[in-house]
Order: sequence, then structure tokens, then C-alpha cells
Amino acid sequence: MLLRNIWVLSLVIVTSATDIVYYTCTCQGVSNCNGNKCLGIKCFVTEQKTNEYGDVIRSRGCFNESLNEQCHSRIEILASWCCTSDFCNENFTIYKPVEKPRDTSLLLVTVLPIVLFVIILMLFIFLFWKMKQSGRKKSLPRLLTTDFEHTDIVNASIVGDSTLGDLLDCTTGSGSGLPFLVQRTVARQVTLVECVGKGRYGEVWRGLWQGENVAVKIFSSRDEQSWFRETEIYNTVLLRHENILGFIASDMTSRNSSTQLWLITHYHDNGSLYDYLQRTTVDPEGCLQLAVSIIFGLVHLHVEIFGTQGKPAIAHRDLKSRNILVKSNKQCCIADLGLAVVHSQNSEYLDIGNNPRVGTKRYMAPEVLDETIRTNSFESYKQTDVWAYGLVLWEICRRTIINGMVEDYRPPFYDMVPHDPSFEDMKKVVCVDQQRPNVPNTWSSEKILSALMKIMRECWYQNPSARLSALRIKKTLNNLKNSLEQRKQDC
Ligand code: ADP
Ligand code: MG
Repeated sequence: MLLRNIWVLSLVIVTSATDIVYYTCTCQGVSNCNGNKCLGIKCFVTEQKTNEYGDVIRSRGCFNESLNEQCHSRIEILASWCCTSDFCNENFTIYKPVEKPRDTSLLLVTVLPIVLFVIILMLFIFLFWKMKQSGRKKSLPRLLTTDFEHTDIVNASIVGDSTLGDLLDCTTGSGSGLPFLVQRTVARQVTLVECVGKGRYGEVWRGLWQGENVAVKIFSSRDEQSWFRETEIYNTVLLRHENILGFIASDMTSRNSSTQLWLITHYHDNGSLYDYLQRTTVDPEGCLQLAVSIIFGLVHLHVEIFGTQGKPAIAHRDLKSRNILVKSNKQCCIADLGLAVVHSQNSEYLDIGNNPRVGTKRYMAPEVLDETIRTNSFESYKQTDVWAYGLVLWEICRRTIINGMVEDYRPPFYDMVPHDPSFEDMKKVVCVDQQRPNVPNTWSSEKILSALMKIMRECWYQNPSARLSALRIKKTLNNLKNSLEQRKQDC
């Protein structure tokens, strides 16, 4: 019986001993760790939440008693969990972390003002650039404000190996000049050679374009309006005429951080009529040729041509011998259109331009000097051109040899006003005293000069509307020229 009891007891003990299984657990944050391990019947994890985002104080360890109530409980912020396998508590977490919202306050305080500042700055730069662009566009002719984006490669291919003649021949249809891109390309291929003239508003250089001479008028930046006006007028359709200076290109560039305004035209080696008359005398036929060519040019400016390919009427407003060039064929062409006014009957449109420049005092008509000119009437401007044309005729006639005699070159009113006359000097002579250039008697002894003498006097009427029109002068001089040629042929 005892033996049997011992056997049963030992069996119970063995059975109990074999029932208790020990596991090796991860041990962290508790006191009975053996290193970071411990041996127990269960492994546990306990967590105490410190905030709503799941930040916890966590401990892992071993239970050596069966404290089931401590397992798998969650009381408010305290939770525990048990498991039964080796290191089963190693990676287990009870409270899953909640994604924390970023700390935006720091972001708002530091980054946002910088971003806002950059945006505002960029906005200002953009607005400033826009304003500059629109300002520039306002002050640029339409042709020059289109399509700045094309590359020079494209332009160069347009120009290719053409000569100026080739290029300009292509434009004879409209007579308005080269397309803007070609103008710009040509302008940028010009090399300046020598300064050949100085006007009041800039310098004129002889330049070379693909071996051909061109004239480059370089405007000072303060005279942008003259450049703009001249460019605009030269780009007017049908302006091309043998007695108007041939326009090639206009260009505005930024060189050495300053704006350069170029106007490129045909080059005339003889220079201005003023220069030509200083060094040259002419015979009466030569005188007539100069006079006829100038009036042809002036009439072409003054008339309005109707139709889709038409041209508005243009008055020069600064006609004088310095603004007329002498071509190699001894015909003249009218230059310097920086002060011109444009008129179109159809649209009742008078464009006086926006140029602070005024004409040359010595050549000013009486109504300009006494300021009675009707500034809103286009006719008035044509009449002032006719006054000036009469003075130019007088300058040419003085240099014409009659019976072996010729006068020295002199500017109009040379004997009545000082070298650089003031407005008041001119007004006294022309309006108050109503003086006119002296016309020598010898002129009346020669057919051409006597005709020119008569014309110039009719250009100098005090009353502007009594003066001849340019068209009338053209017809008279053309008739005279034809009759002389006829007589030559008859002989
Ligand atoms: P500004 O507007 O400054 O008066 P101009 O166009 O009248 O300029 O030219 C000034 C001078 O330059 C002229 O008087 C002439 O001597 C010279 N010049 C102008 N254009 C040419 C040209 N195409 N060929 C040769 N000389 C020229
Ligand atoms: Mg001039």
C-alpha cells in the first residue's frame, strides 16, 4: 500500500513537473532580468501610455506564476499581454502608435514668411517686367514688337547670301521695307567703319554689310522718340521712292548695358546737299535736276495714296539742305524723317507723333515762329515744308554758275541773323520785318534760275495758304525740264 502510494505521489510530482514548461523571454525594463533575458512560464509585455499618440513606457519580462488576470488586460492607460513561446514578447507592442500630426507651428513661423516673401518678390519682378515690356511695346512700332523669340539662326537663313538689292527687291510689292526679323539680322551683321556725320540727335556712320556700304544713324538714347518716329515712318507702306532715302533696317539693342538705337539706310558718298554745295558748284541743268528730285521726293511724302497698299500723307517738318542727301547720279533724296507728321484723310487721322524735337529755327516758317500755325491741320505742316523747300532752292541757286559767276555757299538768312540764331532772332527777321533771302538780279537772266526764282518767292508768302503746293511746284518744274529736253532734242 505504501509503495503504491509512493508510486502515485512520484507520478503526480513527475506529472506536475513535466506540466510546468519554462520559456525564455525578452527582458527589458524590469528588475529580475538576467541580461536581457529571463526564464518564466509566460512572457509578458506591459505598456503604459504616456500620451494619445501611443508613446508608451514599455517593459518586457517573465511571469513565474500563473497570473492570468494580469495577462491580456487593458485598464485605462495600462495594458499587459502574455504569450507562451520563446522570445514571443520580443517584438510585440500593445498600443499601436498613432501618426502624430507634424509640428506645424514651427513651419508656420519660419518657413511660411520666407515662402510668402519669395512669392511677393517674384510677383513684383514679374509686374515690373510686364510694365517694362508694355512700355517698350507702346514706344515701338508694330513691326518691331512682334516675334522677338525667333533665333538668329532662323534670321540668318532668311538673309543668307543675299545682297541688299536682292533683299529690298523682295519688298517692292509693298514698298514697306524688310520684314522685321530680316531687319534685325541685317542690323546685327553691320560693322561700323567711320563717322560721316553728326546731326543734332546722334551720329551717322558708314558701315559695311556683307561688303556693301550702308549708313548707320545711331541715335542717342535721349532721342528715342526720333528713332521711333523715323522707324515708324520708314516702315510705312509704299514709302520707298528714289527721292526718299532708302531704308534698310532699324534695330534696338542693348550694348554695354545701354540701349542703342540704330537706323540703317542706303549710304550716299556725296553726303548731304549742304556738304555737297560747300565743295561743288552746278550748272543750271544740274541745279534743276537737284531741285526736281527734291520736289519729287517731297510730293511723294505729301500725297496720300489710297487703296489697301496705300500710304498716308506725310509732312517732313525739318526740310533743309542738311537733311537732303546727294546720290551718285546727282539726284537728291530726302532724309531724316524723325519729325514727320502723318495724315490719313480716310480715317481723319493726324499723327503728330510724340517727339519733343522741334524743327531747325533757320528754316522755320513765319507761322511757326509767331506760333499762329494751326497745329491740328495737316495742310499747315505741308505749307511749312514748302517754305523750307524755297530756302533750299535758294541755297542751290547760289551755287549755280551763270555767265561764269557763282556765289559762295551761304545758309538762308546768313546776312540777317547770327550764326546760331535764336527763335527770337528768326522771328524778328521773318515775321516782324518780313525779310526774305536776297535774290540776285543775275538769276533772272537765266531761264531755269528765273523759273526757280519765281517758285521760291511763291514759297515764301507770309500767308501759308497763298504758297504753292509741292504738287504745283513739281508740275511746273517737270514741265520746265521736259521743255528743255525737248528743245535739246530739236537742236
Ligand atoms: P540728325 O537726325 O541727327 O539730323 P541726319 O539723318 O540728318 O541726322 O544725318 C546727319 C548727317 O549725317 C547728314 O547731314 C549727313 O551729312 C550724314 N548722313 C546722314 N545719312 C546719310 C547717308 N545715308 N549717307 C551719307 N551720309 C549721311
Ligand atoms: Mg538731320
